[in-house]
Amino acid sequence: MVRLVDVEHGGIPGVIGVFVLDGPEPALVDCGPTSSVEGLRRGLKEIELELTDVRHLLLTHIHPDHAGAAGELVRCHPGLQVHVHEIGAPHVVDPTRLLKSAARIYGDSFTPLFGTIAPVPEENVHVLSSRVLDLDVLPVPGHAYHQVAFIDDEGVAYPGDAVGCLWGEGEFLYPAAAAPEIDMPAWEHALDELEDRDLKLFRIPHFGEVPDVERHLHRTRERLGVWRDLVEGGATVDEFAAVCWRDLRAEGTVHDEEVFPTLPFPSFEMSYIGLKRYYDKARETAERGDE
Ligand SMILES: [Zn+2]
Repeated sequence: MVRLVDVEHGGIPGVIGVFVLDGPEPALVDCGPTSSVEGLRRGLKEIELELTDVRHLLLTHIHPDHAGAAGELVRCHPGLQVHVHEIGAPHVVDPTRLLKSAARIYGDSFTPLFGTIAPVPEENVHVLSSRVLDLDVLPVPGHAYHQVAFIDDEGVAYPGDAVGCLWGEGEFLYPAAAAPEIDMPAWEHALDELEDRDLKLFRIPHFGEVPDVERHLHRTRERLGVWRDLVEGGATVDEFAAVCWRDLRAEGTVHDEEVFPTLPFPSFEMSYIGLKRYYDKARETAERGDE
């Protein structure tokens, strides 16, 4: 049985979810940030589990909203086994670089939003191969180099942020693109690979179950296409953000800045910077090739 625990990040429901794969050795897919460990514990209790009942933590990627709590969880429960892509593994063991990169992106808002990132002892860390706990492990880079999707034998996928985020009540699909390692062709390819798998359900951390896989993949591509046109067309950060806010409102997502000023995170401005960096670099490489 699979259950969804809402860690109620920042006290808000529907922002960060953790899927609990129940069985003789319960496993979590992602764990949320350190700032919502209490929410995770509370959510586990509601489904009659203690943290110490959980045996495995499967990380889709190591961004702080997905994996930030791993070190704190292992500190509280040293039997917890953490499974992560080989590129992510060293940064889970020593989060110094991860913290630096997060600080560059989030600045002063990082700690209030996510808390700290504690290291995971090396002996608890396992590098993912092509299968883990009866799940296929499919690399889905693009949003992050080291992101993977876990896919069960029934066609249910846990793709992390590879297919974007859906927050709140509305339909606005946000393929957050803030990281310095945004790679658009890799992202497109990851979407192709997911499409080829004939999946029947996505379970996404932001947030919940998405039964119409085909439509969702189409919408992810569509949004990334709109963004590409904006950024390549020379839109400024303000123009980019304005389009995002317009689309968000048009699709019925309620955003109450008083309640949660940091949602969406990373902000549209941060995604713009990630995309701009990617497209500037791609253009420079192409120009060098022409010379
Ligand atoms: Zn992410």
